[in-house]
Amino acid sequence: MSKTIVLASNNAGKLKEFAQLLRPLGFDLKPQGEFKVPEAEEPHQTFVENALAKARHASRLTGLPALADDSGICAQALQGAPGVWSARYAGEPKSDQRNNEKLVAELAKHGDKRAYYYCVLVFVRHADDPQPVIAEGRWDGEVVAAPRGEGGFGYDPYFLLPALGKTVAELSAEEKNRLSHRGQALCLLVEKLR
Ligand code: IMP
Repeated sequence: MSKTIVLASNNAGKLKEFAQLLRPLGFDLKPQGEFKVPEAEEPHQTFVENALAKARHASRLTGLPALADDSGICAQALQGAPGVWSARYAGEPKSDQRNNEKLVAELAKHGDKRAYYYCVLVFVRHADDPQPVIAEGRWDGEVVAAPRGEGGFGYDPYFLLPALGKTVAELSAEEKNRLSHRGQALCLLVEKLR
């Protein structure tokens, strides 16, 4: 019999990607919206604290085990910024275009264009689980000044993978899922849950 887990997100892309990998383990993933769970606050300075807060919130309101993720892009020359503020780096309302313009402008002041995407996944068995299962993924690249490619979202057209000579927006969805910070974290989480 499958065991229901609530996903602390309503993002359809994430649901599909995560559900596919968790199904063979007997887990049936459902988005928190199905349980009328409102979005949790993400007030923290670190990815892991935000993911834990989201997982606990979803678990507390549903009584089910919960999975949450938090991710962003971190530039070496900017001491890890935009980091947890990636979605709203250029302020409200959130805009990928303005975020990218700001990141490119900030990095124009530095020679070092290295950056990485980072993702942390947190699984809690119940809201007060003292031992959450945590998995991380990191994907290294560099930020380029001019966008390339049509795929992906967010910072992808500006995030170059030097080894492939392509931006993430130039990869197929399958390639991105296999290589990405989220894909890496998810594989590690599946190993730990097994
Ligand atoms: P979230 O954790 O999915 O809410 O992502 C936070 C923000 O980080 C997004 O709004 C994007 O700006 C950025 N981000 C996270 N993952 C990716 C990615 O795979 N490609 C591009 N941007 C990303």
